[in-house]
Order: sequence, then structure tokens, then C-alpha cells
Amino acid sequence: MRDTEFFLSWMAATAAAVEREADRLTELDSPIGDADHGNNMLRGFTAVRAALEADPPATPGAVLQRVGRTLISTVGGASGPLYGTLLRRTGKELGDAVEVSDEDLRGALDAGVRAVAALGGAAPGDKTMLDALVPGVAALTTSYGAARTAAEEGAVATVPLLARKGRASYLGERSVGHQDPGATSSALLVAALADVAEGSR
Ligand code: ADP
Ligand code: MG
Repeated sequence: MRDTEFFLSWMAATAAAVEREADRLTELDSPIGDADHGNNMLRGFTAVRAALEADPPATPGAVLQRVGRTLISTVGGASGPLYGTLLRRTGKELGDAVEVSDEDLRGALDAGVRAVAALGGAAPGDKTMLDALVPGVAALTTSYGAARTAAEEGAVATVPLLARKGRASYLGERSVGHQDPGATSSALLVAALADVAEGSR
């Protein structure tokens, strides 16, 4: 079972990964965006860290809902509402349980990813964060390690895709040949989950 501490560790690991990779995320957002994805994610997860440290939520669901709300209120750009929806919806699905099973977490993440698709109107193959999240969450039925690999492969597989949503879609054919920044940051979120889950086995 996964307790509140596990979710706080997951979010801390995600914040650390975003700090480490912020420059790369911004570089990826240069050719097919407005070069702010690293800064957006860094601003959001710095606020998340502060919010969770100031007043740690009592349940796994409350942790993710707090993170989602914090991202929505601090991240400008498309990614704020999308990541905010992902985590808030996943947290809502977890309800007020003090501990959740891996199966419950998988189901909740699945609902969170579907909420992102509903909000942004994107589908896998559109060169968005869904290209990492959908395969990543699907592979949770195998293992956390498989989810990490699937999300990372999904992010890399956005390179040859034509962007159909978000700012990158304005470039049309010129969006081909670049890795999607949001898919790349989504793979960091999934990898952080796998790291924390594997570390606490
Ligand atoms: P902005 O595009 O407003 O500058 P960011 O640079 O922070 O926002 O985030 C860009 C990322 O957001 C993209 O790389 C893509 O993965 C994701 N994104 C944009 N629009 C959508 C959408 N409609 N559905 C899913 N993801 C999207
Ligand atoms: Mg951008």
C-alpha cells in the first residue's frame, strides 16, 4: 500500500527532476514553442514544494489535489491547466483513503490522463504530453519500471510526429523532427514515480 509519505516523495522527486532538466525542457520548447516550458515547470514545482512543506496534506488524494491546484494557479501556459488537471483529477479519484493500492493508483492515473485528453482535445500521436502519459500509465499494469521505459520511449517517439495541438501545431510540417517538451516533462513525472516505488519496495 502507498501512504501519504510515498506521494510526498513522488512529488519531491518530480520537483528535483524538473530542477535538473529545466534548461533542457526550455531548449526543447525553443524550436517548436516559445522557450518557456522549463521555466513554467520550474515555477510550478517550486511552488508545489513550498505548498507541501508549509502544510503537508493528510492523505494521498489531498497531496495530488494540492499539487494540481498549485500548478493551475502558478504555471502560465498550456501546461499549467493540463498538469493541474492530471494531478487534481488523479487525487480526486483516490478519495480520502489514508493508503492506496498500486491498482487504485493506476486506475486514478488513468482517469487523470483521460481528463487531460478531454481538456486539451488531444489524442496519442498529436505530439503532446499524452504521447508519454498514455503509454506510461498503460504500462503500469506490467510494472513501475515498464511505465518509466514506456513514457521515455513515448517522449522520444514524438520526434517524427506532426504537432496537432498547442503552440507547436502553428508550425505545421516544421514541427516534425523535434521532441515534444511536454512529453519529455511527463516522462520525468512517470520516472519519478517509478524511482520512488522501486526505492520503497
Ligand atoms: P505553452 O505552449 O503555453 O508555452 P508550455 O510550453 O509550458 O506551454 O507547454 C507546452 C507543452 O504543453 C507541449 O509540449 C505539449 O506537450 C503540451 N500541450 C500543449 N497543448 C496541449 C493539448 N491541447 N493537450 C495536451 N498537451 C498539450
Ligand atoms: Mg511554451
